Amino acid sequence: MPTLNKPTQRKKEYNKQNKEKVSKVYNKYKHIRNIYIQQNPLCQDCLNPNIINANGTSGECITPVDEVHHITPILEGKNEAEMMALGLNYDNLIGLCEFHHHLRHNNKKKG
Ligand SMILES: [Zn+2]
Repeated sequence: MPTLNKPTQRKKEYNKQNKEKVSKVYNKYKHIRNIYIQQNPLCQDCLNPNIINANGTSGECITPVDEVHHITPILEGKNEAEMMALGLNYDNLIGLCEFHHHLRHNNKKKG
């Protein structure tokens, strides 16, 4: 059976609406992010001995946060309220260094 992977017009429209919603979330999130980094200034994955570090070793490593990552992506929210909840919820945030932030995003693409 042939598979067509052509994006439809409706999908494009949906993405555009989502983008607007996400940017609304981000406007409020900027503030949350600053507070989060003040309270959690170190990369959580570098501190985790089960996760490999940028230098190829594992074990605890002290690295300042570069990026605050959303564990469940904002776009998983089905509507604006859910996106807002995901975007602004401290429990959904994790402070990461650049290396671990990339790693998490790259891992996600596989699935
Ligand atoms: Zn790290």
